[in-house]
Amino acid sequence: MNIENSCQHIEEMLSGYLDGELTQQEGQHVNVHMGQCATCAHFFAQLRQLQGSIQQTRYPELETEKLRKLLHDSTSHTLQGVSWFAIVAGVVTILVMAAYEFWMNSVMPWYERLAIGLLWGGGLGLFVSVLRQRLIARKTDKYRKVKL
Ligand SMILES: [Zn+2]
Repeated sequence: MNIENSCQHIEEMLSGYLDGELTQQEGQHVNVHMGQCATCAHFFAQLRQLQGSIQQTRYPELETEKLRKLLHDSTSHTLQGVSWFAIVAGVVTILVMAAYEFWMNSVMPWYERLAIGLLWGGGLGLFVSVLRQRLIARKTDKYRKVKL
C-alpha cells in the first residue's frame, strides 16, 4: 500500500470529499479506499452524520434571518413611517388650531392664557418624552429578540 492510499491520507481528504471539493481522481481514490477499508468508511459515515447535525443547528439561524428581514422589511418600514407622520401631523394641526382658537377667542386676560398655555405645553412635552422612551424601549426589545 503506497502513501497515497494510506488511511491518514484518506482521512485528510474526507471532509473535502464530503463537500465535493476533491478532483475526480482524488474522489475515486477515496471511493476505492473506502470500499476496501472499513475503518475509513466508518469514519466517513461519522463525519457525514456530524455535518448533518451541524446543518440542523444552522436551521434556526435561517429562521432568525427571516424574522430579521421581516422586521426590516422596507415597505412596511416606509408605511409605518408615513403613518406615524400622518398621525403626528394631524395631532399637531389640531393642537395648533386649538391653541390659536383659545388665544384669539378667549375672554381671559393675556397672563391667564399664557399660564394655561404653559401648563398645556409642559404636559404635552412630558407626554411626548414618555412616548419617545416607550418607543425606544420597544425597539430595543425587538433587537434583543432578534439577537437571541
Ligand atoms: Zn483506511
